[in-house]
Parts: sequence; structure tokens; C-alpha cells
Amino acid sequence: MRPDEIDSALSALAGEHRLRRRATLQSPQGPRVTIDGRDYLAFASNDYLGLANHPALRQAMQQAIGDWGVGGGSSALVAGHFGIQQQAEEALAEFVGCEAALLFGSGYAANLGVITSLVGRGDAVFADRLNHASLNDGCLLSRATFKRFRHNDLAQLEQLLRDTPARTRLIAVDAVYSMDGDEAPLRELLQLAERYDAWLYLDDAHGFGLLGDGHGALLEYALHHPRVVYMATLGKAAGVAGAFVAGSRQLIDWLVNSARTYIFTTAHPPAQAAAILRSLQLIDADKWRRHLINEHISALHAGLRATSLSLCSSRSPIQPIIIGSNKQVLKLAEQLRARGIWVPAIRPPTVPAGSARLRVSLSAGHTRDDVAELLAALLSVIS
Ligand code: PMP
Repeated sequence: MRPDEIDSALSALAGEHRLRRRATLQSPQGPRVTIDGRDYLAFASNDYLGLANHPALRQAMQQAIGDWGVGGGSSALVAGHFGIQQQAEEALAEFVGCEAALLFGSGYAANLGVITSLVGRGDAVFADRLNHASLNDGCLLSRATFKRFRHNDLAQLEQLLRDTPARTRLIAVDAVYSMDGDEAPLRELLQLAERYDAWLYLDDAHGFGLLGDGHGALLEYALHHPRVVYMATLGKAAGVAGAFVAGSRQLIDWLVNSARTYIFTTAHPPAQAAAILRSLQLIDADKWRRHLINEHISALHAGLRATSLSLCSSRSPIQPIIIGSNKQVLKLAEQLRARGIWVPAIRPPTVPAGSARLRVSLSAGHTRDDVAELLAALLSVIS
């Protein structure tokens, strides 16, 4: 992109109703937010369990700032691996039933770092078409042969595995798809990984805290296996920030020595690890949060059953309403905003062309009345 081309590129995006502008929050994250000076009931964040602003997490982080300070100071390998982070890694590994875990600054960084540590030239990666952008970027950066299969199409995946010669193979999937809320057939994927001698790389960004009674997809589907590499983010249901990868001790030792997004980056603030540790306790103890989300999902489905709006088959807090056109989805989101409800309009390239959607994100932070208010607003904008 030349400097004089940016203006027309931005105009082109605007013409296609794809120009993105950030909404500025003037409040903490939560079901009720202030955005650009107006109050909204929001169904936009990935704070599924309502923990992002929980007093216990705030307190844990504040106390840890007293104990450990604010900055990471240097990369973890130089002098930035803190005791509290070691404690969090051990707790995370135990939480998901693995031998060891490694904290990353973000899920994006974890996906790039891990995939490029496991595959390179001469290898092949196989990715579901609806995978998150960070998985795709990791696959591209690895320089391995990059094959994408139709969403959840095991037959096509098997054919690609059979037809693609490679030294090392890696199958990469989301456990729960971020824009559709549906799940990958993980048991069957593991069978394919075994049959074709491949790694199964599992991005559980949207399942951790929810599936497996909060302990994630490995527990939900009994997937502990030396071929499975597990990644989950900590900025969604866990309510904090960062991500971790879990697997065998050997795998984690290899990542410490090879994952460039771990090695060549400043360690994240140590106090973050204290909030993560506290969050794990709440994910475990507060089972009511998952029950309440299930109630919200049922209420939403029941409320929209007899309308022209259709939901996807998702048992996750991600409940997209597929609209189709970019223009129409923007109009609906705007009409909802006028009624004080914030639901993001998701458009290409985040989702495939022609499948623009309202991505309703439910949370245990929402009350039953909040969901009723959303339903009433949706019914009024489509009538
Ligand atoms: N994987 C998936 C499936 C995601 O949805 C996201 C975040 N949207 C990420 C990875 C990236 O995680 P993070 O936000 O921690 O960078």
C-alpha cells in the first residue's frame, strides 16, 4: 500500500459497509457499558462468565501489583519469568489435566508461536475454513503447505491428509467456532490425527471456562493424548488477558526453546497471573454461572423460535443471528443501538461474504431481565 492509496482504500471499505470504527468504552467491561457517552445493555464481549470486572479478580490483581510491581521488565527467558507466573502455569496445567503449561501474552501470539514451532517447510497444516484468523496466520507464517478443509468436513480433511505428502502433519481447529458458536468433532479429529500421524492443535478460546464444567474441551471430550496440543485464551471466560498452551512437559520445554512469540517479547505483567489464579478458582466454584448462561441460551432460542430471525445450532454463549447483507446487518445493529442495546454487526472478512451477522454474546453477567430486554428489542426491530 503506497501512502497515496490509503485514502481510496478506506473509501472503498466504506462503500462496501466494511469500514471499522472503534467504539470507545467509558466504563469497565460488563453487561451495562457506557460507549461514546451513551449507556447500553451490551451483548458484545467475550466475558462469558462475567468475571472481567469481578471484585475478587480486581483485588487479586491489586494485591499482586503490591507484591510484584507492574511491568514485566524483560522477556521471560532473559529475566522475566516471575514466581507468580510459574504458579499460574502449574495451576493451568493441572486445571486442564496436562503435565505442563506455558503462558503467552495473547492467544494470537500463542497460535503463531506454537504452530511455527511444530511445523515448517516440508510439513503440512490442515485447517478448518472457519478457523480463527490467528490460526491461519500461524499456518501461513510456518511456511508449511497450508490446506484448508470445508467447515467440519471430516471426509475432505481425510482426503487432504491422504493426498498431501509431508514430514510432519498438523491439524488445527477451533474447539468452539468464534463466529458461529458450533463445535469441532474433536473425537473424530483425534482419530484422524492418529491414523495419519498428525498433531491435533486445539484452540479452545471459546470453550475454556464453559466446556468440561469449566475445565475446557480436553475434559469435555476426554482428549488427553500426546498428539493433542491445547491452547486457550484467558481474556474471554477467564476474564483477564493472555493465553496458555498445555501438553506434555517435553512439548512445553520445546516451546520455551522455539516459540518466537514467547522468546522475543516482554513478559506480561506479573499481576495478571494472580488474577488468572483467582479466576480458575471462580470458574471451578461458581457453577451457577454456566447454568445461568444455559438458561439465557434457552430463553433466546424460545423467544426467537416463531420469528424470521434464525439462530445457529450453538450451545455456547456465542449466538449469532445470520442476516446476510452488510448493509442490513449494520441497519439492524443501529436500530438496536437506538433502543439502548449493543450487539456487534460482524461482517466480512471476519465471516464469509454474504453471511454478515449480529453476534449476540451471552454472559453470566446478564440477568434474565437483560435477556428479555434483548428479545423485546430484536422483535421490535424486525416487526
Ligand atoms: N483464537 C480464537 C478462536 C479467538 O476467538 C481469539 C480471539 N478473538 C484468539 C484465538 C486470539 O486470542 P487473544 O484475543 O487472546 O489474542
